Amino acid sequence: MPIATVNPASGETLRTYDELGTGEIDERLAKAASTFRSYRLTTFPERARLMERAADLLDQDQEAVARTMTTEMGKPLAAARAEAAKCAKAMRWYARNAEGLLGDEQPAGSDVADSGAAWARVRYRPLGVILAVMPWNFPLWQVIRFAAPALMAGNVGLLKHASNVPQTALYQGDLFRRAGFPEGVFQTLLISSTAVEGVLRDRRVAAATLTGSEPAGRSVAAIAGDEVKRTVLELGGSDPFVVMPSAEVERAARVAVTARVQNNGQSCIAAKRFIVHTDVHDEFTRLFTARMAGLTVGDPMAESTDVGPLATEQGRTDVEELVDDAVQRGATVLCGGRRPRDLRQGWFYEPTVLTGITPDMRIHHEEAFGPVATVYRVQSLDEAVEAANDTPFGLSSSIWTSDEAEQERFVRDVEAGGVFFNGMTASHPALPFGGVKRSGYGRELSGHGIREFCNATTVWHAAEPASDT
Ligand code: NAP
Repeated sequence: MPIATVNPASGETLRTYDELGTGEIDERLAKAASTFRSYRLTTFPERARLMERAADLLDQDQEAVARTMTTEMGKPLAAARAEAAKCAKAMRWYARNAEGLLGDEQPAGSDVADSGAAWARVRYRPLGVILAVMPWNFPLWQVIRFAAPALMAGNVGLLKHASNVPQTALYQGDLFRRAGFPEGVFQTLLISSTAVEGVLRDRRVAAATLTGSEPAGRSVAAIAGDEVKRTVLELGGSDPFVVMPSAEVERAARVAVTARVQNNGQSCIAAKRFIVHTDVHDEFTRLFTARMAGLTVGDPMAESTDVGPLATEQGRTDVEELVDDAVQRGATVLCGGRRPRDLRQGWFYEPTVLTGITPDMRIHHEEAFGPVATVYRVQSLDEAVEAANDTPFGLSSSIWTSDEAEQERFVRDVEAGGVFFNGMTASHPALPFGGVKRSGYGRELSGHGIREFCNATTVWHAAEPASDT
């Protein structure tokens, strides 16, 4: 894919970029490695001061960077502003909490005297140069949720961003440099996905994190495995949104719309499969469909727009093919199911609700990365859990019920990295984020996220011998 800004609302190519050559990549790797040698020795307060400064700059830049994101990948402008604000918040959260999260740990539970120790602890030390391969859908947030903890831990970062968001990618390198981080602490590499292997195999790179599709994750993990380098993978999702009879159905239907169409339907943690108990199925489906059909689709720069275009032409084709396959195999379209008639340019697709989904349909087991919802009818919680788990993915989940026994049962049995009761899945700096099954492994955010790229080092001190005899 060429490295270029192409406005998805018009299809117009606004700017193209040359890829870095091998010599330039090597220079940046050398810079990262040499910077790590000194940066790792900085103190938490020194790093925190720089991170807070970067957060302040980001707040000042909010409108401009939001417009860049919307221009490059089509999310509604209000959502882009909110994304920038959320990033600044996460940067401050890590600036203020990193030292506490990475302080020396006493070994949990029993004492270690029987190992001959006077004392022992775990110290979290940075790993080195971390390669981040990132997607376009939250072009700022995906990067910051890697960079804020990684840099606060004393690592340095190399960013290979998605090829369709080069301006947002370059902005981020610039942001950390303007904040005063030493040159080489965070560098953007404008490279294609085929150049990732060479960077990852380079001995100066210690580990990698990838957020993106399953094929990309598999490829990076295979190379990292071959090199015995640590990885975190945040891949796709097809999150269930379960509605039980005790739910507030009107509220569930309202939140369901946001949960499905946020970011124009292109969020890994969007609710994608709506699994509804038969007692409330018809009411939920009616309310949900009416709201989905009433959304305003259009120019993402317009404040009144709910749903902008898909980020790429291929992305829209993928969604169209999933819907067409389902319809050909007997699914019913309750709303949408086509391109908007009045938007001839750009990669728009109408918010769509499908029912009558069967296991032979691709959409039953593939991720719909666009504003397309599937609604399933179930007879019991057992059936709901079975349906929720009937997917290769396991990112997050939500269940709407006021019955505590049902809530506990769902937490016990659902195969997912998150469970949200009576609300939509969202990420927060203090809460671990990540999945199971084909949604990947490892965690971002919280203490779990910052420790992923640390060397948990056992430090052991011998007890004084009782006597020398
Ligand atoms: P993608 O095509 O996998 O691209 C993601 C990144 O990986 C891009 O930088 C891409 O570079 C690179 N890439 C692609 N193939 C690669 C390969 N074989 N080797 C190395 N790098 C490779 O995914 P996307 O279309 O941008 O993003 C959508 C997917 O990301 C969805 O499945 C979504 O669910 C998932 N996602 C997951 C999370 C999460 O936290 N779990 C969050 C957001 C998105 P190029 O752009 O140059 O191809």
